Amino acid sequence: MQIGPFKSEVIETFADEDVQREMMDALKKVRSNADYVYPLVIGGKRIQTKETIVSTNPSSPAEVVGASALASKEHADAALDAAWKAFESWKRWSQEERSLVLLKVAQIIRKRRREFEACLVLEIGKNLIDASAEVAETIEFLEYYARQAMKYTGSIEGLTPFPGEHNGSFYVPLGVGVAIAPWNFPMALMTTMIAGALVVGNTMVCKPAEDTVVSCGKLMEAFEEAGLPAGVLNFLPGIGRDVGEYLVAHPKTRFISFTGSLAIGARINEIAARLAPGQKWFKRVFLELGGKNAILVDETADLDVAAVGIIEGAFGYQGQKCSACSRLIVVDSVYDALIDRVVALTEKVTVGPAETNPRNGPIINAAQEKKILQYIDIGKEEGKLLTGGHRLDGAGYFFSPTIFGDVAPNARIAQEEVFGPFVAAIRVKTFEEGMEVVANTNYGLTGSVFSRNRERLEYARREFQVGNLYFNRKNTGALVGIQPFGGFNLSGTDTKVGGPDYLLQFLQMKAVAERF
Ligand code: NAD
Repeated sequence: MQIGPFKSEVIETFADEDVQREMMDALKKVRSNADYVYPLVIGGKRIQTKETIVSTNPSSPAEVVGASALASKEHADAALDAAWKAFESWKRWSQEERSLVLLKVAQIIRKRRREFEACLVLEIGKNLIDASAEVAETIEFLEYYARQAMKYTGSIEGLTPFPGEHNGSFYVPLGVGVAIAPWNFPMALMTTMIAGALVVGNTMVCKPAEDTVVSCGKLMEAFEEAGLPAGVLNFLPGIGRDVGEYLVAHPKTRFISFTGSLAIGARINEIAARLAPGQKWFKRVFLELGGKNAILVDETADLDVAAVGIIEGAFGYQGQKCSACSRLIVVDSVYDALIDRVVALTEKVTVGPAETNPRNGPIINAAQEKKILQYIDIGKEEGKLLTGGHRLDGAGYFFSPTIFGDVAPNARIAQEEVFGPFVAAIRVKTFEEGMEVVANTNYGLTGSVFSRNRERLEYARREFQVGNLYFNRKNTGALVGIQPFGGFNLSGTDTKVGGPDYLLQFLQMKAVAERF
């Protein structure tokens, strides 16, 4: 296959007026399609249902962005059957043929880039730049996995010959997988889970989050347009605890790729471990879950650089990233000076309708807003409210970026994932005490250290137990093919999306020995 090396996609800044105009047109186009109902796609057939899932704009909840059909358990049975049927031929396609399909999907999304971005702006309240970053990441996963898959073809190198026998080992796909995605990166994370598995010969049933049926429906269109054979990818929007859980428990599900909360991930892990009647395998379960991510700042750090990194890490996409900073741990001698800077920058964060490209758009929905308000009440008992802590005016779910100071390491707001623009600041005497507070969590997703002390950075490199660690920069924004992403401990099974070993998880090795 003649393709160049992988390279990152450019993220649009929207500084150029022509690009701004393109975005306005794309927003209009997506809006003009608001009465479209994305069908279920099972074995290539498009199916509408009486009941639907309606998706609204969190910047303006009265506005409908679109809808999808609603899958039942019978649809789940049909989708798994269709995927197994398609597996028989898809697994025999050459690796090059399968990789080319991914590259074609990437090219289709590139051509419709503004429209895909507009969908994210309207459906999940990403500002224009965050939406562009997600679409770029979606394309990168496709491009990266198309190339990575080529290394798993043919016989496996490095085995020792045995006299009188011909021995050979090779990789084969697992079968039919189920992908269950969260709402906060509906295109990129659904893409990593489905494309990674498809490209090496598996077939998939995918269930988007209830809030993002339009973004995922659009993504499905790109896969269909690229010519993926019927049944290779089946689209099953439905309710998580209903059709989602049914798919997890189903004896015909071979593996589950789940990205979402710890509570649901733990439940999926447990259900998938039980053998259902007629089940012929142990299901593989890949989990990417939540975090309580810490930024640790010591007295040697450049406080201005740290303050900017903290704001970006904590409040990017309203703090609704699994990687977002939610614990700020600061050495006492610089605590006040740093907090002053962070609070000053926080109070400059603009919040408003996502399409006006403020720094922060809305919270995803009313339930999430209510949850954040409950944590504000808890925070008022557990710490000192330094800034924010309230809803903002406007029809959307706009919320002020919030920081609580002098929080104890064991406080609930220092332990539980809030998933919003919400930071608990903790004062420690020394860097060493700071590292103890860092470790005081069951999560292990991301973290940052701001320090100019080499010895401490090296200590953190070894001892800061997270899947993704950053020094002297924000703790979010892992790049495909550059910073493989995945969590330790209860943050997940460390799948390392966008990394060189990711695809191996969707393969099994077969060893064949022939005696002469
Ligand atoms: P969630 O766990 O509520 O839902 C995720 C998905 O699971 C949805 O599609 C939902 O419908 C489905 N679901 C719900 N109950 C189910 C059940 N019983 N069986 C099967 N499926 C079920 O999470 P969310 O609110 O959509 O997303 C936010 C969470 O995701 C946060 O905790 C965040 O940290 C995490 N997240 C993690 C990563 C990562 O890479 N580690 C990335 C993004 C988000």
